[in-house]
Amino acid sequence: MNEERTCLHCKDKIKGRSDKKFCGDGCRNAYNNRLNEKQNGSIRKVNSILKSNRRILEKMMQDKGSHLRITRQALINRGFRLNFHTHQLKSPKGNKYFFSYEFGIRILGDEVIIVKSTKGEGRSGK
Ligand SMILES: [Zn+2]
Repeated sequence: MNEERTCLHCKDKIKGRSDKKFCGDGCRNAYNNRLNEKQNGSIRKVNSILKSNRRILEKMMQDKGSHLRITRQALINRGFRLNFHTHQLKSPKGNKYFFSYEFGIRILGDEVIIVKSTKGEGRSGK
């Protein structure tokens, strides 16, 4: 069996062991770097949405005390993406909050309550 294999990166013919996928370390590195770039691209995209969400909430909460009630539409108009969040928390009363970092929102039909977490992240107190 003398099947010809080609390098995944440069498409050159590969000589040697039959399990080789690249003609050399250079091609392996280049291929893996490109793969990482693609993955980093989607991570960056989600990160920037989350950061933008956080910025919008931070701006709205400025000088507004511990929580703020606004319409859902007002939030969306500012570019907030409701289906992106970093984590969820349930209050002792059982209300569900969706957080963008330290800022959380609770959706009440057409209205939204924005809160700022006063606890440090990573602690599990109630
Ligand atoms: Zn190659």
